[in-house]
This record gives sequence, structure tokens and C-alpha cells, in this order.
Amino acid sequence: DAVYSETGLYEVLFTVPEDFRVAMSGTLINAINEGEGDRVKYDLCPPSGEGLRTCHYVSGPMRDSLVVAGPGFGVITACAGDEYRVLSDGEACDEDDVAVNVYFWRDDDDVARDVLRFATDSVRIFNEKFGPYPFNELDVVETFNFTGIEYPGIVVIAERNWQRGNAFLEITTAHEVAHQWWYSLVGNDQVLQPWLDESITSYSEYVYLRNAYDERRAGEYIDSEDQAYRRYRNQNFPDLVLDLPVSAYDRSYGAIIYTKGPLFYYQELEQTLGRDEFFDAVQLYFQRHRYEVVRSRDVLEAFEDATGQDLDYIFAQKVGEFPGLDRAEGCRGELRPEFGPIPTTMSRRAVRWLYGTACGSGRMMPQGQPEF
Ligand SMILES: [Zn+2]
Repeated sequence: DAVYSETGLYEVLFTVPEDFRVAMSGTLINAINEGEGDRVKYDLCPPSGEGLRTCHYVSGPMRDSLVVAGPGFGVITACAGDEYRVLSDGEACDEDDVAVNVYFWRDDDDVARDVLRFATDSVRIFNEKFGPYPFNELDVVETFNFTGIEYPGIVVIAERNWQRGNAFLEITTAHEVAHQWWYSLVGNDQVLQPWLDESITSYSEYVYLRNAYDERRAGEYIDSEDQAYRRYRNQNFPDLVLDLPVSAYDRSYGAIIYTKGPLFYYQELEQTLGRDEFFDAVQLYFQRHRYEVVRSRDVLEAFEDATGQDLDYIFAQKVGEFPGLDRAEGCRGELRPEFGPIPTTMSRRAVRWLYGTACGSGRMMPQGQPEF
């Protein structure tokens, strides 16, 4: 994730040897064989068998474009809006559906079918929960990399994890597909504010498990993440806030951004606001900011606007200080130190009463508990 960029429209002509198959961000509009005047219509760009072939791609609004090409790739396709089924030759998805293509090394086709199911399930679930993926194609490609990496319209998954029954392969696939919503469509500076895409993308893993399986499966996963964070804290590693640059975390990067971050979305927002309100806010955030570059204030504002709740205090505590946090000037000096730090469970009215100030806005009390 070395760079991030504004959204643009891409047109790419990519010429490859006769045995190469090409996977690229966007959609193939035609393939041109060397020496032939005719343009050949394919849904994908298969090897020509003889002579050079130029694959001509265009994209909708995307913030980057990736090409993976090489000999020895197989490809299978399924439609996200349909019952899971691998398409046979010549079949295509409906125009308003999303075709998910999995490119794999030749002898890995059993695993490719699993990955195709994880990816189509992910697209279907995130479409419903977050908002529509606007393109008609998504590619998932087996390559050499560490775990997986996201690009607009295409994700790569590490071949070293490409084994049947590998739970990490499934979670990685769901994670990288979720990045289409968080990073590709709703963009952010991944080096200076990694929490903005990685934490909600890691939270999306919970959403995937809950909907692809059930509450129990998701609950076990969340519990194990919660325990992992406790173990991290028990080793006296710092409980850093979420909105820091990658360089500030050192060895805490994984625990804060990928574990504390998704737990923040789950425990502090989803559980406190209620699931319906939470997803209203997520959908508002997606709708408002797709194709844009967000800052931390955009998350806060979407959640406050969608729910009518005052969330500055909990964001200040977990995310940290950032421009747009609603805190009155000089507010801190007015706090009455004899009461100590403001507990997170305190209502805004209670904070005002105790501290004589409106600036520290506590999160709302859980339902049924008396307010001050
Ligand atoms: Zn990620």
C-alpha cells in the first residue's frame, strides 16, 4: 500500500505472448490478434495460442489499475447475484450482476472453486450490507505475495495459503474483497491513516462469517480476536489510538489496526448503537464517500448523522484527536480534576453535571439503565 490516488477512468491496451492469460482491473472490451484486422470478442482475455495478442481494457471510476499476466493460469467464473454455480464455457452473468473470476495455477482448481465461493459470497453479502459494488466484474488471482493485496476490481491471494480447508484462506479472501468497499471505492491515505480502510475491512470479516455461516461462528471469531487483544495488552504493549500513521505503531501495528480497530466497530458502535442503526450509518458513509478520499471526521459524521447520537467522546477515546472532533475550545482546562478521567459508560448529561462542561460528551447509556 505504498500509494493512494484520486479516482480516474482507465483505458489500457496490454500486449502479451501467445501463452499468456491476462487479468486486469476493469472490463475487457476486445482482444486484438497480431496480424489480424479482426477484433475478437471474449469475456476474458485467454491465450491466443499463436502470435501476440493485445487485450483492451476500460474501467469505471477506479483509483488504480493492476494487471496480472502469465502462462499457466486457469480461470473459473460465478455470478454474485445467483445461487453459487461455476459457469460453463459460453455462459455469462446478467448485465446488472457481478461476474467473479478466479485465476489459479493449473493444478489448484479444487481450491479455486472454494475461493470462488468465498469471493461470490463476500460480494453478495457486502452488496447487501454496505451498498452496491458498482462494477460488473471482480477478479481474484492466485499469486506470490505475503497473504493478499487489494486493488480496484482485482485482488491477489497468496499461493502459499491456497489449500483446501484453510480457514485463513477464506478470511483473507473475504478481507481482500471487502477492500473493494473500503480503500477502492471509499478511499483513504493508507500510510498516514491506515485505520480508515484496514479496521473496517477487518470488521467486515465478522459480517462475512455472520452471513455466510451464522452468529455463533462470527461470535467465536470475535471472541478470539478479543482474547488476542487482551493477550497483547497483558504483555504490556501500549493501547494506542487508531488514527496514527503506520510509522507510529512499530510492533503494535497489527494489534491496533487489525484487532483493536474492528473491535471498536463491533463493541463501541455496532453493539452500542444496535445493528440496524449501525448498518444505516455504514451505508450512509459508503454512499456519501464512494470514489472520494476520506478522513477520520467523515466516519464520525456519518455515524452521528445516521443515528442522531453524539459520538465525539468515544471517537476521541479510541480513534484519538483529529480535525472535526466536536470539542469546545479550552474545554479541557474547565474539567474538574477531582473527578478523574471520564468513564466511557457515562452519559453526556452526567458528564455535564459532574464536570460542569458540555465538552466531554459521553456515549449514551445502554438501554434500560437509569440516566443521571
Ligand atoms: Zn487489508
